[in-house]
Amino acid sequence: MGSHNESLRVLIVGAGFGGLTAAIECRKRNFNVTVFESNASRRQLGDIISFGSNSGRIFRTWPGVEDKLDPICHHGDGIDFRTYDDEFLCRQMWDKDAIWGKRFGGHRGEIHEVVWNHAIEQGVEIKLASKVEEYFETESEAGVVVNGERVIGDVVLAGDGVRSLARTIVLGFEDKPKSSGYAVYRSWMPTEDLKKDPLTAWLADPTKDLHFGWLGPDVHFLVATLQKGKALSWVLTHKDDADVEESWSAPGYVEEAVKAIANWAPICHAIIRATPEDRLVDWKLVFRDPLPTWISPKRRIALIGDAAHPFLPTSIQGASQSMEDGVTAAVCLELAGSKANVPEALRVFEKIRYSRVLAAQQTGVTNRDAWHKADFDYVRKNPESVKLPQQEWVFNFDARQHAYDVYEQTSEELKKDPDWKPNPIL
Ligand SMILES: Cc1cc2nc3c(=O)[nH]c(=O)nc-3n(C[C@H](O)[C@H](O)[C@H](O)COP(=O)(O)OP(=O)(O)OC[C@H]3O[C@@H](n4cnc5c(N)ncnc54)[C@H](O)[C@@H]3O)c2cc1C
Repeated sequence: MGSHNESLRVLIVGAGFGGLTAAIECRKRNFNVTVFESNASRRQLGDIISFGSNSGRIFRTWPGVEDKLDPICHHGDGIDFRTYDDEFLCRQMWDKDAIWGKRFGGHRGEIHEVVWNHAIEQGVEIKLASKVEEYFETESEAGVVVNGERVIGDVVLAGDGVRSLARTIVLGFEDKPKSSGYAVYRSWMPTEDLKKDPLTAWLADPTKDLHFGWLGPDVHFLVATLQKGKALSWVLTHKDDADVEESWSAPGYVEEAVKAIANWAPICHAIIRATPEDRLVDWKLVFRDPLPTWISPKRRIALIGDAAHPFLPTSIQGASQSMEDGVTAAVCLELAGSKANVPEALRVFEKIRYSRVLAAQQTGVTNRDAWHKADFDYVRKNPESVKLPQQEWVFNFDARQHAYDVYEQTSEELKKDPDWKPNPIL
């Protein structure tokens, strides 16, 4: 693979799922890869995270990864939807996944550890405690300043997350988040306390993984069990006043979470009340308008993952799209074939990815509104209306193959239209 006669020097910022995927795929192509991660150690932060079959297929192409993910992931075959007062609505089966691929969902820290270890096995160098302070580029190189040192490469892939610093150099201005008007209480907890209450004890079923969605006006509560009934994760998305601080570690308070669903069924309150408070976070959901571009003026720095395009959790695609970015960027750099052609590779990367990501981002709003804005008289009469759309274009998609298929044609299109810019309107 790869026609680069000298190894391309790829600098990757951020060891999230976007950065690590880019690193693994670049190493496979024998590029010289360095990842800079600001954290001093690999942290276990986060709770449940989901990967659709579009990114599940990426995991499955990395030798040994699926076998390590299987024991830690959720293995339910569907989700039961119920109303806020606990009336059963319908069961949505994940039957299409059997045809399209395999989904993976589990603890972010545990899945991240598997991917991280795979990256190390592939020879990726991850530099911890390496916060990138500055980005720079020339016509022929790109680099970062880390801990006061200038590091030079041929290309920088910036997967530095929702609070990306790289965005500023790419855009030429600092992009501010806006409140989405919603926040999420989230928890990942052991099931010990749930077992003590007859109302919730059955949730700790060691024989099968369970998944529920309780829906009410402007609130939804998703609950999943996994790891043979030992772990339960829940997320409660609710209306919130305009606070735009986003943090995966902001503390949440049990009684406040209960208050957000005051008139709901006792089982929902019981699950929340069994949550150890140190396991509860309150995460503000923010919006960012789609960026006018993901690549820098000299086309040697590209944003990938949340840095380029944050997702609402209701799209259930944030991590998947960041992995698709990583794979696509690596294929584009391979097919560009030389260091001189990095700018072409990044332009093609942006053009291949932009409209797909924009459409996938939009599903976060439509999915959320389908639940939150639902007329519950209508829902009770038409219970199937709450099912999540399972769009084939999202899930039955092979980002790697797609990049190989369309690279040449996209590159030709860009040569004919050198002023092409992404269209941030769907
Ligand atoms: C701590 C944390 C917890 C999360 N928990 C969940 C969760 O429970 N459920 C869920 O669905 N999603 C969660 N997410 C978000 C989810 O992981 C991402 O939306 C998705 O995987 C896209 O990944 P990404 O690689 O683009 O960004 P991220 O996963 O955000 O990774 C970005 C990485 O860049 C690093 N970084 C940032 N700035 C710099 C810098 N200047 N220099 C060097 N490194 C830098 C960060 O430390 C981080 O490791 C979490 C993200 C974080 C950071």
